[in-house]
Amino acid sequence: APAETPQVVIDAHGLPYLNSKLPVKRRVADLLSRMSLAEKAGQMTQAERGALTAPGDIAAYDLGSLLSGGGSTPTPNTPEAWAKMIDAFQLRTRATRFQIPLIYGVDAVHGHNNLVGATVMPHNIGIGATRDPQLAHRTGEVTAAEVRATGVPWDFAPCLCVTRDERWGRSYESFGEDPALVESMETVIQGLQGAPDGRDLKDDDKVLATAKHFVGDGGTTYGSSTTGSYTIDQGVTEVTRKQLEAVHLAPYREAVDRGVGTVMPSYSSLDIAGDGQGPVKMHARADMINGVLKGRMGFDGFVISDWAAIDQLPGDYASDVRTSVNAGLDMIMVPYAYQDFTRTLTDEVTAGRIAERRIDDAVSRILTQKIRLGLFERPYADTSGAADIGSAAHRAVARRAAAESQVLLKNSGGLLPLKKTQKVYVAGSNADDIGNQTGGWTVTWQGASGNTTPGTTILEGIRRTGAPVTYSKDASAPLTGYDVGVVVVGETPYAEGVGDVGNGNDLELSPADRAAVDRVCAAMKCAVLIVSGRPQLIGDRLGPIDALVASWLPGTEGDGVADVLYGRRPFTGRLPVTWPRSEAQLPINVGDPVYDPQYPYGWGLTTLTKTPGGGLAALYRLADAAGRAHTAQAGRSAVEQARRIVERRIADRITAASAKPFAEADHLLLTGRYARAVRKLIEAYRAG
Ligand code: BGC
Repeated sequence: APAETPQVVIDAHGLPYLNSKLPVKRRVADLLSRMSLAEKAGQMTQAERGALTAPGDIAAYDLGSLLSGGGSTPTPNTPEAWAKMIDAFQLRTRATRFQIPLIYGVDAVHGHNNLVGATVMPHNIGIGATRDPQLAHRTGEVTAAEVRATGVPWDFAPCLCVTRDERWGRSYESFGEDPALVESMETVIQGLQGAPDGRDLKDDDKVLATAKHFVGDGGTTYGSSTTGSYTIDQGVTEVTRKQLEAVHLAPYREAVDRGVGTVMPSYSSLDIAGDGQGPVKMHARADMINGVLKGRMGFDGFVISDWAAIDQLPGDYASDVRTSVNAGLDMIMVPYAYQDFTRTLTDEVTAGRIAERRIDDAVSRILTQKIRLGLFERPYADTSGAADIGSAAHRAVARRAAAESQVLLKNSGGLLPLKKTQKVYVAGSNADDIGNQTGGWTVTWQGASGNTTPGTTILEGIRRTGAPVTYSKDASAPLTGYDVGVVVVGETPYAEGVGDVGNGNDLELSPADRAAVDRVCAAMKCAVLIVSGRPQLIGDRLGPIDALVASWLPGTEGDGVADVLYGRRPFTGRLPVTWPRSEAQLPINVGDPVYDPQYPYGWGLTTLTKTPGGGLAALYRLADAAGRAHTAQAGRSAVEQARRIVERRIADRITAASAKPFAEADHLLLTGRYARAVRKLIEAYRAG
């Protein structure tokens, strides 16, 4: 039985592993050499905090980590309560032989979304739409500062999924369908962790990041296949080796270069054409975790399993443990059966079915990150940054992100930006709902509609411009006399699975939303904003809609949406994913041989007022300029100018012929091939 009373059992002086002046490697080796097998097994265990049958179990089982996961028990509501909770857990480690601090982890996937009152950023799909790596970096900094100020040093983010089929319910967690776009947004890792060598991790405003879910989580096949029946989430990713490398692995190469501290394998299975293995769960894929990630890519952080993911492996529990640890898993998010797990792991090692050096490697990796985070020196929460949680400065970043993430898909007659003098009729299910606007992973795992956390709704943002506003959610108020309607529709929150549970797994707007759009757009000029984690089918409804905006899940700052609606900032966002015409087109992605979407990847009109004039001649000049550009900045601005010329020409009548080169231009821009990007735009111009 554990000692319930914390006691200091070691003398801090003279032990190399406690000496912060020594190199990390030396400290790790020293500590490891002193540890028993049971202590090592404990370090490899992550338990859900609500699973602890007694707080003393932290010491009794030498637990290395705790988490508040998605499916976890309700979380505390204030920064102080978080800090107190974590400190109380941490205190328990004082009763162990070496007083190895716990590393606590949470999913802060768009700001410190676990905490009421924190700054909630747009979900990743919106961040991808901004095409702004500096902004992604800044959102990481704000998130890290708010998370660490509650005593949490580890964040299970960012998701590096490259989403390939919008029927996947986690599409909103993806920066986009193009690996180059995902890579360009990985600046967020530096925002969270600081420098790639980990030297900033001990700062009170940095956290350890997690690249997830390795690998191919965004590429699973929809529906059932020959391999059995499964839904798209946690399904099977069927790829050639070439596709695997180019689409799904590429973002991990970038993450390893950026020094990401941890990687989480995916629940999904991987089926590589021709490798003879058939579909194999990622948590069992030694070839990918040991081989590619740790071997070829040289990842030196640690690998954390997904929630209870090893339980999904075939065979009994001993086989689950053996297979996953031997595949390269360093820490297991058990999250409940920590007693079973530590016992089974120890037994497997004693029986020689897991090599002791595998355990030593895993524990070394974990201890390295704990030392880098400064947890041995400062195990308790440093709440000095707590005053900044949800502060005006942090919300300003989220507001800018919300504004930059808005994608203007259609703008007939230049309806947007609106003028404050226009009488506006606001309707739709998502106009005045913080919960819907923030989506899943907000306060609770699934998120919820309604007033879940402080912020401004889109309606409030519009009101705060001073414009004369009438609000009627279901558009039942009389419709006469208005200059313009703004109908905000879309999805209700969800976290995993196939998405919008209430509406089934289709990308259709709800009947109420469709009715609101139809009523308002029949009566007046109208702008429709779609607040959702992925494209929604607009189809024939597009005709009467004057302006259409993809708002994604913009977070707590509805003011940011109002900023672009009212021209305080220009629309600059561009589609991070292809916007399909119909569900039958799915999956549809940039580069597909047949490509006739409603709006192509990379599409997004701008309301920047200074647009260059000119037709083909101007475009050729820009192609030339892009070719000769001596700096990336100059090359990019030539592409941007060309894009604006093309946009004006093809706005509102995109055809298959213009959509494809337009989308490809965006891909070329991301990969730095500026002259070719402009040449693609010339193609789009000719076709449109
Ligand atoms: C999700 C992960 C998450 C984990 C812990 C799982 O259900 O797939 O993304 O990090 O839960 O909450």
